[in-house]
Parts: sequence; C-alpha cells; structure tokens
Amino acid sequence: MGTFTSKPAGTMRSVVQCCFLVWVIGIGIRFGMYVNAAESGAAAPLVARPPGVEGFLPIGALTSLKYWLLTGQIHPVHPAALVIFLTILLMSLLAKKSFCSWLCPVGTLSEGAHTLGRRLSGRSLRIWPWFDVLLRAIKYLLLLLFVKLIVLDMPAAALGSFLDAPYWAVSDVKMLHFFTRMSVATMAVLAILTLLSLVYRMFWCRYLCPYGALLGLASMLSPFKIRRDPTGCTGCRRCSAACPSRLEVHACATVSSAECTGCLTCVDSCPEAHVLAMRPAFWKQPPAGGFPTLVVLLFMAGIAAGMASGHWRSSLSYADYQRLMPLLPYVSH
Ligand code: SF4
Ligand code: SF4
Repeated sequence: MGTFTSKPAGTMRSVVQCCFLVWVIGIGIRFGMYVNAAESGAAAPLVARPPGVEGFLPIGALTSLKYWLLTGQIHPVHPAALVIFLTILLMSLLAKKSFCSWLCPVGTLSEGAHTLGRRLSGRSLRIWPWFDVLLRAIKYLLLLLFVKLIVLDMPAAALGSFLDAPYWAVSDVKMLHFFTRMSVATMAVLAILTLLSLVYRMFWCRYLCPYGALLGLASMLSPFKIRRDPTGCTGCRRCSAACPSRLEVHACATVSSAECTGCLTCVDSCPEAHVLAMRPAFWKQPPAGGFPTLVVLLFMAGIAAGMASGHWRSSLSYADYQRLMPLLPYVSH
C-alpha cells in the first residue's frame, strides 16, 4: 500500500486502499462462514452470502458480458460479477486505471510487499528498460488470449451452457478454496510472485495482470489525465523519478499512456504549485481531493446501480449451495 507521507494524495490513497482491503477481507470472511455452513449441513447460515465475492470472478464476468450483449439478459447466477466488472470498466473510461491504484486489493498488497522489501533491503531493483517493455507485453498477450477464447470464439449457445452449468454456480466456492485450501503448486507460484513484488515495484500489476491491461486500454479514453503546465515547470524531473509506472511525466504535456494508474504520486512529487494535475482538459483547477472523491463515488455508484436494478443478488439459494457442494470435486478441473 502507498507509504504514508505528508503528501496529500499519497495519504488519501493509503486510507482508501486500506478501507477497501478491510472491506474485501470482511467479504472473504463472511463468504467463508456461509460456505462452511453449507458444507457442514447447517440448517441455515449465520450470515447472508456477500455478493461482492463475485468481484473475484472477472473471467466469468467477461463471459457474462458477452451473454448480456448477445441476449439482452443479465445471467442471474452471479450478476454481481458483471456489475463489478462494468463498474470498474466505467471507472477506467472516466478516471484512468484508478481501480488499480486506489482500490484493487492485489495492487494494495503488492505495493505493501514492495514497501516492506525496500525497508528491509534499503533498495528497489529496476528491470532494464528494454526487458521492461518486453515483460509489459505479457499482460496484453494474456488479455488477447481471454478475448479470443471468450469474446471471439465462444458461440452464444456455449455461453448459455457455461453460465447455466454447476461449474459457474460454484466458481465462487472454488475461488475461496483457491485461497483456503492451497495446493503446493499454488503456494509456490504465490511465494514466487510475493518475492518478485518485494524487490520489483508492482511486479504482478505491471507485467502479468490481464485485467489491468484491459483497464489500461479503456483508460486511454478517460478525460481525466495527468496534465503538465509547461510554463510553470522547471524541468526538475521529480515527477518522472517518482512515477511507479516509469513514465516520462516531465516530457509530456498530457500523460496518455495506458500504464498510468492515476496514483497521483507525480502530483505529490512536484514542488511547483498548480503545474501537475489529474484533470480533464476543460477543468483548469479541480479541487484538491476531487479525483479521489470521484474514484470512490464512481465505484459506489456502480454498485448502487446494480443493487437498485436487481442485479446484485445471485439467484442461487442456500439450499442450492448445499445441493451443489458435493459436486465440487467433479467440477473443479
Ligand atoms: S503518471 Fe503520475 S498518476 Fe500516472 S502512474 Fe505515473 S505517478 Fe501515477
Ligand atoms: S516535478 Fe513538476 S516541475 Fe519538476 S519536471 Fe515534473 S512537472 Fe516539472
């Protein structure tokens, strides 16, 4: 997570990231209790199933999106997965890749790991620029693979069969078990990624996350961008030195890159007043705290719209989960 400093955006970002992480952990605990109740045959769960858990099903959400576009229907089994997916996509279209740097729990943990690594070792490694460019391509290739398999190749009939099948119904339980019943291979992969995150800033987000790649491409259309006023800029390059995405902020009038996460670290680093800002072209001086407020409001508005339109709660009942749980070993692979 972002380091607490006297920098206003950095502090705000750390607070937002921590609150969101706590919320996500709460969802995980509640869902774990719900699944435990269903597995143990309890007559009723102690807590209701939290629909937010479907935020961890982005590939299913992409399938659900295509199903919605083709049929006009939002599939009822895990509708919150689509609501969260669309909300995050909309956030990127309006407010850069802000989900990645302000809300995503994986990004928060990755930043936290790197801060810890830097404190322990006193330094942060940098990958050679040419290799960095090559590695960054991996996440776009992974995105391309998912788009080909789901958006291009999957026929409408197959989409319906996938979304109606027990595999999709219990995908949230399988995701829970991914974390709570880790295989040795999963543990080894997570350990390697954690080690890489300790020494390289945002290793997963920067090189491997296909979700971030999609949001980055969408974010290029965002009216909010980092804009630099060349008349007040002294060319000190502090903004570029601080940018976690290694962007040449000091050399751009407008940062349009898909790699900009909207973290505002560059804005915090600039010693000149009103030279760097995250703003649309038509808004010269947005209020301090305006962008973080927008990010949080956009997320809340997306979820509220899903709830208000009746596309938040799954059509699966507790009895359905109890019926499906014994099928888990047969639909896991
Ligand atoms: S350009 Fe600024 S807002 Fe964008 S990633 Fe770099 S530091 Fe963050
Ligand atoms: S930190 Fe500010 S003054 Fe320095 S190069 Fe960047 S925009 Fe210009």
